[in-house]
Amino acid sequence: MSKVLIIGAGGVGQVVTHKCVQRRDIFSEITLASRTKAKCDTIAAQLDGSIRTARVDADNVPELVALIKQVQPKLVINVALPYQDLHIMDACLETGVDYLDTANYEPLDTARFEYSWQWAYQDRFKEKGIMALLGSGFDPGVTNVYTALAAKKYLDVVEEIDIIDANAGSHGQPFATNFNPEINIREVTATCRHWENGQFVESAPLATKRVFDFPEGIGPMNIYRLYHEEMESIVRHIPTIKKAQFWMTFSDNYLKHLEVLQNVGMTRIDEVEFGGQKIVPIQFLKALLPDPGSLGPLTKGKTCIGVIARGTKDGKRKQVYIYNICDHEACYKEVQSQAISYTTGVPAVVGAIMMLTGKWHGQGVWNMEQFDPELFLEVLGPMGLPTVVVEGEWPEL
Ligand code: NDP
Repeated sequence: MSKVLIIGAGGVGQVVTHKCVQRRDIFSEITLASRTKAKCDTIAAQLDGSIRTARVDADNVPELVALIKQVQPKLVINVALPYQDLHIMDACLETGVDYLDTANYEPLDTARFEYSWQWAYQDRFKEKGIMALLGSGFDPGVTNVYTALAAKKYLDVVEEIDIIDANAGSHGQPFATNFNPEINIREVTATCRHWENGQFVESAPLATKRVFDFPEGIGPMNIYRLYHEEMESIVRHIPTIKKAQFWMTFSDNYLKHLEVLQNVGMTRIDEVEFGGQKIVPIQFLKALLPDPGSLGPLTKGKTCIGVIARGTKDGKRKQVYIYNICDHEACYKEVQSQAISYTTGVPAVVGAIMMLTGKWHGQGVWNMEQFDPELFLEVLGPMGLPTVVVEGEWPEL
């Protein structure tokens, strides 16, 4: 039975809070804190006020430290934005409290996705005797765990992975993103990188397109290659991997809007002068686009996120596809959020359960593939995200 502090009351924070409340056997006292306290109170009201709420600016370390000292949690679950990761890690170091997040740190002024900044906390977390679990969402997160499962159970040597993320759902809006628009657009417009023969190879964003036939009635969809942060930690911790690629589905409609927005400069992340003041175009765009939270009641269809791992078993070539299917409407019925927030929030809570029950433990900074995948997946299924494993053959992507 442990006290937990959740920071961030957006789409993911809502799911994390609902799911922690469902597991009172683990999370005895829950505090939800965010920049806008009213958003925490709205979530608390959905849960009959059974949690505490607070206001915090997670870019302000002394404010964070004061809140952590007051709440005295065993663990801080960071589901604010990637920009806050290092500040929250600093506050955890100062107070000696464990840390978990779902996305790697990003500097506000450069869209760089890498673990270097957070891995640099390794010695300090070890010396303090505390643990940080990085990237406990779906991708990164469950995709790392699926790769570790392939390496533990299905293949002797994992040589190639394709991580494939399909959102086969539809919200009926002309253009909207399923999670924070600023973070989403920074990610998909970044230079693509994939791992090949010991190094990352760069290509233009979304320039490589394939068709993948998704299981369970979803069928063929266009997938586009992009860089995703879990490849960096997976190839480091499972060094037999020679090739790693990440693919995501985008509709023609989404890509058409994105291209125009890029061409007119609306996705820029630097400051421009407007009406006598400085604005960042992508932040202005975020203010105009639908709030991802508002898509919950509108979104229908499924997500399918998984990993195809290829390699050898008993000296023979073998492939395994490990995935989850999640239904937007079922998620909304359960926690009043669509499947993108759900598939991120549930693994965050399962990561927290792994840490608080000591099933995954260690001092320092850890990525998901470094721990026993089966212990995690045993809890993930009953919490709402069951795993499907299929052995077979899939075309090279
Ligand atoms: P939202 O934008 O919906 O929510 C972010 C929340 O953080 C908001 O409540 C926001 O407050 C709060 N916040 C922002 N800045 C601060 C600050 N300085 N101090 C305190 N609170 C702050 O984002 P999502 O819920 O969609 O995403 C949350 C995280 O999950 C992100 O890091 C995202 O990258 C990650 N993610 C990970 C995925 C995975 O599979 N691994 C997939 C999807 C998302 P306010 O309401 O005041 O703006």
